[in-house]
Amino acid sequence: MEYDAVVVGAGPAGLMAARKIAKKGFSVLILEKEKDLGVRACAEAVSASAFETAEIPPSPSLTSNIINGAYVFPPDESKAVKIAGGDYKGYILNKPLFLYALASKAASAGCDIQMRSEVKGIKIEDGRARSLVYERKGEIQSVNFKYLVGADGVGSVVARGCGFEMGSYEIIPTIQYVMVNCNIPERDMIRVYMGNEVAPLGYVWVFAKNEYMANVGIGVRGRAAKPYLDRFIERHPEFFGNAKVIKEGGGGVPVGGQIPELVKGNVVICGDAAGQVIPITGGGIRTSMAAGSIAGETVAEALEAGDASILKRYPMRYSEPWGSRISKSLKVLRVIESLPDSDLNTLGELLSGDDIIDLANGLDVKRVAAKLMLHPMVAVRIASKLI
Ligand SMILES: Cc1cc2nc3c(=O)[nH]c(=O)nc-3n(C[C@H](O)[C@H](O)[C@H](O)COP(=O)(O)OP(=O)(O)OC[C@H]3O[C@@H](n4cnc5c(N)ncnc54)[C@H](O)[C@@H]3O)c2cc1C
Repeated sequence: MEYDAVVVGAGPAGLMAARKIAKKGFSVLILEKEKDLGVRACAEAVSASAFETAEIPPSPSLTSNIINGAYVFPPDESKAVKIAGGDYKGYILNKPLFLYALASKAASAGCDIQMRSEVKGIKIEDGRARSLVYERKGEIQSVNFKYLVGADGVGSVVARGCGFEMGSYEIIPTIQYVMVNCNIPERDMIRVYMGNEVAPLGYVWVFAKNEYMANVGIGVRGRAAKPYLDRFIERHPEFFGNAKVIKEGGGGVPVGGQIPELVKGNVVICGDAAGQVIPITGGGIRTSMAAGSIAGETVAEALEAGDASILKRYPMRYSEPWGSRISKSLKVLRVIESLPDSDLNTLGELLSGDDIIDLANGLDVKRVAAKLMLHPMVAVRIASKLI
């Protein structure tokens, strides 16, 4: 059997890529190793514009909660920076249902989707990937293709199997509890806690899903995450005094920036597999969908023209704004992770909600650095490094 394109992974990146290729009339097969969509833990927060990227309207059937802002707590927790108002609006998705909606769009464009199909290896001949081997319900099968899309997340078999250079690809481990009977005020505000005592080189998130449940998680670097999360929960009886953990999950988040090459011959890599995550926030749903979308469109153009060299358009088109945001956010992350808690507290005093949004998402970093330059004590240590 041969398809015009095979997409490995039915996450946000793969489902977008497959839809875009099939929409142009090409045959596409999606292979997904799990038996359901959205199995992996996720805090499920997206900005409202993620629905534009997904090209589906926001709907209460796909979301658990509407978010109108965030509180970012510096280490001393005495004063939070409030991010609210203006254009800031987002959602806590019901991610499995959101992925079902993306899968439905891919299916309606004509994609074949095979669940419980784990790709094990890729056959390369004359420098081109020709076929792959996968295990489906205990049986080994193979499929040929003209183009291959690796959207198989952290630890990508496609990236490894096709010899992609991974550069500074770095995974931060996370743990997340889904908790019930929490007592979280202002459920339309997400809460983020920073500091070397709370979450060394990472942060804790508390995202209410509804009046009954919340995603409570942590990412840390260089230490075991769970003890820090348990300690945070213990230290906040006002939220979690009578709460119970119903589900425990986690996974790696690639925070080291984009891999240096996204295309090799007739293969493209997108999403977590390619490190296309905003490093400071660890947010990768929208950036991965955007990558899948552009990668898929480019594969369709290459199929139309019968010319694999067209794939090079994908990294070029992704670099603005996405690639550039990822690299700016990485730069800010490197500065922030070098700061002691005392400096984080100072930043908490000086920065506004808009400043934090710009820094975290790699937007107008220079503007924030210029603002910090007005404070001589922080200018030397922090602002100069941001420019
Ligand atoms: C705990 C946690 C919380 C997070 N919270 C947020 C958040 O609040 N907001 C946000 O924007 N981002 C968040 N992220 C990041 C976000 O989940 C990812 O960036 C995003 O899902 C990446 O999409 P993807 O399609 O590239 O990869 P994935 O979503 O990982 O999808 C890859 C798919 O490939 C499949 N696969 C893997 N290997 C194979 C194989 N060999 N054969 C077949 N299939 C395979 C996997 O089963 C999976 O379904 C979080 C991540 C974690 C771990």
